[in-house]
Amino acid sequence: MAKKNGTHDLDVTIQCPACHEYGVFHTWDVIDTADAKLSERVHFDENLFFYTCPHCHAKIHMESKCLYIDRDKKLLVWHIPDPKERVTSKEVQDALGSPSFTTYTCRAALTWGEWREKIIELESSYDDRLYEIIKYGAYQLLSQEDKDRLPLEAYHIDYADDSHDSDKLALVFMQKDAKGMAYVYPITEHLKEVTKDIFSCPSSNRSPMPTARHSSTVSAIPGPGSSRRTSLRLPKKTRTAKPMATSSVSGSRPSATKSSGPK
Ligand SMILES: [Zn+2]
Repeated sequence: MAKKNGTHDLDVTIQCPACHEYGVFHTWDVIDTADAKLSERVHFDENLFFYTCPHCHAKIHMESKCLYIDRDKKLLVWHIPDPKERVTSKEVQDALGSPSFTTYTCRAALTWGEWREKIIELESSYDDRLYEIIKYGAYQLLSQEDKDRLPLEAYHIDYADDSHDSDKLALVFMQKDAKGMAYVYPITEHLKEVTKDIFSCPSSNRSPMPTARHSSTVSAIPGPGSSRRTSLRLPKKTRTAKPMATSSVSGSRPSATKSSGPK
């Protein structure tokens, strides 16, 4: 019997922000892991949501809404680049082909980096909320100068190396002004060990969200100043555009960042 597959693709007309010529971008608004090849690309293809202009060859980072469905692991992960954008239950029901999704773990992310991060975490054996605590703790250790340079919005968890092993993850701090440049820190066994207790709950492995006072337990993470491992994660020169946003690129998330820490 064929597996249910809600994958849905679409062609979007794009006006290149570099040369202003029009082109067509082939993308997806629903990605279902029943489509094994495509779900593999979500994990491994960092260019999946880039449009290459056929006229000037500029590489454009596309921002669009996309729902990731894993029916086996019961996951629904939304990429919603604009927090003001509404998502209805009906959209989810239609994509899923089922009236109920109460048994699913649901997440939403604002950037492709975060979206991929959530998928990697949820498909590994760890509680993704643990990684949120690790990220929160690590970010607090940055100097204000580094926080300005490495905005929280662009900070995510990714594979530590090209083996794409979900047991080997890393914190990735993307630089604001040098697109594609990032500081990468491996999440070590020790780090997972010291943060494990935050979620230990005898009755269930889904414990309530801890409060910020636990953040001291993640102080083992080096800040970018202490161990500089620079790695190139994404194509060096990229621009960002939303499909249909034919007149500007100003709505793009990576460039719309401000210093997020206290002044
Ligand atoms: Zn162009």
